[in-house]
Amino acid sequence: MKSFHPPQRTLMGPGPSDVHPRILEAMSRPTIGHLDPAFVAMMDELKSLLQYAFQTENVMTMPVSAPGSAGMECCFVNLVEPGEKVVVCINGVFGGRMKENVERCGAIPVVVEDAWGSAVDPQKVEDALRAHPDARIVAFVHAETSTGACSDVKTLVEIAHRHDCLTIVDAVTALGGIPLYVGEWQIDAIYSGTQKCLSCTPGLSPVSFSERAVAKIRQRERKVQSWFLDLNLVMGYWGGGKRAYHHTAPINALYALHEALLILQEEGLENAWARHRHHHEALKAGLEAMGLSFVVRESERLPQLNAVRIPDGVDDATVRQRLLSDYQLEIGAGLGEMAGKVWRIGLMGHACNARNVLLCLNALDDVLGSLGAPIESGRAVAAARSVLHPGS
Ligand SMILES: *Cc1c(COP(=O)(O)O)cnc(C)c1O
Repeated sequence: MKSFHPPQRTLMGPGPSDVHPRILEAMSRPTIGHLDPAFVAMMDELKSLLQYAFQTENVMTMPVSAPGSAGMECCFVNLVEPGEKVVVCINGVFGGRMKENVERCGAIPVVVEDAWGSAVDPQKVEDALRAHPDARIVAFVHAETSTGACSDVKTLVEIAHRHDCLTIVDAVTALGGIPLYVGEWQIDAIYSGTQKCLSCTPGLSPVSFSERAVAKIRQRERKVQSWFLDLNLVMGYWGGGKRAYHHTAPINALYALHEALLILQEEGLENAWARHRHHHEALKAGLEAMGLSFVVRESERLPQLNAVRIPDGVDDATVRQRLLSDYQLEIGAGLGEMAGKVWRIGLMGHACNARNVLLCLNALDDVLGSLGAPIESGRAVAAARSVLHPGS
């Protein structure tokens, strides 16, 4: 055996996305103790950088030392008590996982279903809350990565609050890619991931909790069933003041997140959101010129996750295999009921740039053309260029 040297790929799937070289460099800096004063000072900066990224002043804002799925679990195990009713919106894979979490907390899910590829319908949430006035929490996904649909967080949170419910929001793919205002929208609990629009290495989950959520966690009747994710304990390490050992923090991974958030702050959140939108428009122009169609209607589409239908007679796996072998390009397959029917093309974080848009369109045009797929060959790049460089 030898040291592992991964191939150099371009990552345009549903995550992980290409990691910025500055972040990889930050990760390779010397490991220090997790209670070293220098490290603790870095943790404080990390918290304020996360507050900026989430647009919140929530004191309980920090990264969970595990991937997005653990952030999801952290929100549910802390906020949901056995026997409670939780309205769970399902319009793709990740809403389904929320339901699993509710059940495993010993609580009762009230499911609000929408078709895969659609946003969550606020009217259905309103109806569910009227039918179940004893519901305590509403949970939904902002950016549903399995389909590319974006739900209206502000409206859904308003409805939940009108019915005296707290809200749990999945922002794993949303954070850094589309407008998200945790404070202004009064989201109670939110979790994200590092490997999507933050372009950081996978394995951490930024979370943030409102004062109302913290109050509920403090007043729980029973202990949180997960020792590792119990925020009452985690805050002994991440909270202000004297820090106590809880678990050994993933030191170098936290350097990476610090660097990723610094890059985001240097660019500016609004600029990052605009960059995602702009390159999505270019990619969309190219894909549509090629004759490919989007799964999600335009008004509900995420810029950072483009789900397109696979043309008739084209073998999904063959195309993705050729993109990987000939172009070192990874795009995503369909998940669940969309497996084999769609491709998910990510434009996330550092990978969201003109070079990648043109690379992806060129590569798809070539591979699909060579397989005799029913596409309009030779048009995509020009269509994208006209968006990237209008008027030239
Ligand atoms: C990727 C993703 C997750 C899970 O994150 P992991 O880091 O893979 O555990 C959860 N929700 C959404 C919407 C995602 O896109």
